[in-house]
Amino acid sequence: MIVDDPTRTEQIQRTLQARYDELTAEYEAERDRGHRLRLIEVGDSAGDDQADSGSKAAERDAARSVLGVILDRRLQYEHALARLAAGGYGACETCGSEIPIERLEIFPAATSCVACKQAKERRAA
Ligand SMILES: [Zn+2]
Repeated sequence: MIVDDPTRTEQIQRTLQARYDELTAEYEAERDRGHRLRLIEVGDSAGDDQADSGSKAAERDAARSVLGVILDRRLQYEHALARLAAGGYGACETCGSEIPIERLEIFPAATSCVACKQAKERRAA
C-alpha cells in the first residue's frame, strides 16, 4: 500500500503521531519511576539485608530495560513518520514490495514485509 491519498496519509500520520506521543509519555513515566526507585533506595538502604538490595537492583535493571524497549519502539514510529513524509510509507524497505494493509493496521510502524522481517530475524538469531 503506497499512500497517495492525502486524507489517508493524514490519518496514518495522526495514528503514528498519537502512538509516538503515547510512547513518549510512557517513557517519561517509566523514567520518573526509575528516579523514585533510586531515591527510595538511597533513603532506606541503611537497614537493608542482602536480599532486599538484590531485589531493588533487579527492579532497577528491569526499569532500565523497559526504557530501552520503549525507546526502540518510539524510534520505529519516528522512522515510519519519516517514511510517510518521504512518500515511502507502506513499501518494504528491503524488497520494495507493498506491505499488506492488514499488517500495517496491526503494526502501523512496520517498514518491512513479513518475509523480509522473518529473514532478518533468522539472520539475527
Ligand atoms: Zn520485503
